[in-house]
Amino acid sequence: MSAPTLRTFRLANWTLRPDRDEDAPPTTYAFRCLALGGDGAACAAQSPPSEEPTEPQKTVFDHLREHPEHTSFAEIIERPWVMWLEGPA
Ligand SMILES: [Zn+2]
Repeated sequence: MSAPTLRTFRLANWTLRPDRDEDAPPTTYAFRCLALGGDGAACAAQSPPSEEPTEPQKTVFDHLREHPEHTSFAEIIERPWVMWLEGPA
């Protein structure tokens, strides 16, 4: 029979907030094609992520020139968030 294990749990108040610290990862923008191919599968072509919001839009126009029937896109915004511990550590 093993001895009972004593554990201490600290009560903590966590808050989830956007990470705006100097060393936070950048917010990035990208576009993904939502068009369906002939086989019903999504094209899913995606621009590289960019910190400049309008940069990925150029990829959309290039994609449309190659695939004139692909006219639906989703903008993908990746914004860093962080869990913040309130009170004494
Ligand atoms: Zn496409």
